[in-house]
Amino acid sequence: MIALPAQVTVREVGLRDGLQSIATVLPTADKCQWVRDAHAAGMREIEVGSFVPPTLVPQLADTEAVLASAKRLPGLFASVLVPNLRGAERGLDCGADLLLLPLSASRAHSLANLRRTPDEVLAELSRIRAARDSAGSKTLLECGIGTAFGCTLQGEVTAVEVLRLLQAALDAGADRVSLADTVGFADPAAVTRLFEAALRIAGNRFWCGHFHDTRGLALANVHAALQLGVQRFDASLAGIGGCPQAPGASGNVATEDLVYMLESMGCKTGIDPAALLVLRGRVTRWLGGEATYGALWRAGLPRTFRRVLAGSGP
Ligand code: ZN
Repeated sequence: MIALPAQVTVREVGLRDGLQSIATVLPTADKCQWVRDAHAAGMREIEVGSFVPPTLVPQLADTEAVLASAKRLPGLFASVLVPNLRGAERGLDCGADLLLLPLSASRAHSLANLRRTPDEVLAELSRIRAARDSAGSKTLLECGIGTAFGCTLQGEVTAVEVLRLLQAALDAGADRVSLADTVGFADPAAVTRLFEAALRIAGNRFWCGHFHDTRGLALANVHAALQLGVQRFDASLAGIGGCPQAPGASGNVATEDLVYMLESMGCKTGIDPAALLVLRGRVTRWLGGEATYGALWRAGLPRTFRRVLAGSGP
């Protein structure tokens, strides 16, 4: 029996990864309420948006306002995605706690998504690190290696290339590195292999696992990473997110399902899944006819369910 981490952090990414691929533009006030309610449910890490040009992602044009609102919540660690130095400078100016720079291990995806090769993104990471340091900022820099298990455009992405980029990201100045199954190609055995190697390279600078539920394996993939001691996972309320290359596919692992699984297994998240279900109902109403996913909301919590209590564990 492998001991699972006693404590696990779930980072909500629905406001960025989820909303960016949904046509409905959620009003700023609703986003701020989403952040407040998630915080009240016990979430302490939320990716509130991205500093991408609003012409490209109009859904996230109000990230600065959402971030400012999030920063008023006690103990909340608010992150934003930044595609380049210009976005990072805005993130630093706005006092984000963490900037996530996505780096696609698939050259084809990198060119399509960021119009840069992976190595050009690494060069940008060095410039972002220099800007952070010269600003004397405490903001952390995370480099998320995406399409780490394969790519809709390119097909195979080799582990050798993923691990080369992971090491290079650390060398270029990332404080933290993460792995993302952007398009839902991973399976638990592949997660074990790749995460084991990544953890050997990054040690305690490894930050987060990011799994899309495109083919229904996200929770199984989380479990595989948990068994290696990974203690932080991204998730999206109601599983929103989708995948532009796979119409009809679900998005990130659903936050409420992930929290339910972790708490049931004795991994303390500090988050109340019942409160998440209430918030889920609110968000799905706001999103009108948009597709949402997840399983817990259908049947609700089992009557035998107990959260890991505040006094237990670390
Ligand atoms: Zn994603």
